[in-house]
Amino acid sequence: MIFKDPVCGKYIQRGKAHVVIEYEGVNYFLCCPRCQTEFEHNLKLYARPELGEKTRKLTQVPHHHYN
Ligand SMILES: [Zn+2]
Repeated sequence: MIFKDPVCGKYIQRGKAHVVIEYEGVNYFLCCPRCQTEFEHNLKLYARPELGEKTRKLTQVPHHHYN
């Protein structure tokens, strides 16, 4: 699998990323420490789920019922 670094736009092979950061149920692959820092400081700007790998299962956690 190949993922796109959301900061610099470089394509990174799974397992060759400098670091993988999970944010809101999505794994983001960053190529270098600089991209990691940039990503961590601007999560809302760079976090685009279509670029990462979803980590959450699709099964829903049961909701509490209020009776
Ligand atoms: Zn990068």
